[in-house]
Amino acid sequence: MHFSQSIEQVRNRVQEACQRSGRSPEEVKLIAVSKKQSIESIRAAYSLGLHDFGENYAQELRDKSSVLSENLGLKDELSAPRFSEALSIKWHFLGPLQRNKVRYVVGTACLIHSVDRLSLLEAITEQVRKKNHSPQECLIEVNLGEESQKSGCSLQALPGLLDTFAHFGGDVRCLGLMCIPPMHTKAESSRPYFRVLRELLRKEQAIPRPYVNLRELSMGMSLDYEVAIEEGATMIRVGTALFGKRA
Ligand SMILES: *Cc1c(COP(=O)(O)O)cnc(C)c1O
Repeated sequence: MHFSQSIEQVRNRVQEACQRSGRSPEEVKLIAVSKKQSIESIRAAYSLGLHDFGENYAQELRDKSSVLSENLGLKDELSAPRFSEALSIKWHFLGPLQRNKVRYVVGTACLIHSVDRLSLLEAITEQVRKKNHSPQECLIEVNLGEESQKSGCSLQALPGLLDTFAHFGGDVRCLGLMCIPPMHTKAESSRPYFRVLRELLRKEQAIPRPYVNLRELSMGMSLDYEVAIEEGATMIRVGTALFGKRA
């Protein structure tokens, strides 16, 4: 399928899922997951109106964002007006993040979806302060399947982790929750997990905490984004359904 067709198809399905669930398509942000996809694919997607991109690997994010900002003229004042559109590229970081890679992500990603432990919040805050970046916004990834090999904080650890945002003076802020349900082949298998995440968000919203404003639910990938929308996703992370198979 041609690229523009797959984008069209995903957009149509988003719209239909919104209709089914009485939601407005403006409530659902489509994040194009461009990990292992080429710079050219990102450019093509951008020109077709996708402005939010998701990456999983810290160095890949650093390299791609730097190449794209150069080639799109962000670092060249003369060519900038021609490519001023490029200023609206928004990078999302989705993958497991180690403390020593935080410097590649903070200040580049508008949102880190995969925060799951206190030591990571400390490292992010340290980087924000060192580089004088604006506050880093993030989501807490919850390991709903309790899968030992997966990242994400446990259900039990979530309230405590949300409490710790108070300690960082607003240099790191929490906007919501993210999950990756256990691997499966049927979209419907994800529904119970999406429901649990939505209920968690609702429950934690009732507890006021400094620098925590829970409004985003990042859930749903190529296989199950329509189910995620039906269950209240505000951000869906779609890779292969847009770009085809990864290299
Ligand atoms: C790879 C990935 C996606 C996209 O997966 P697809 O199945 O290609 O849509 C979404 N979220 C995360 C965290 C990922 O690692």
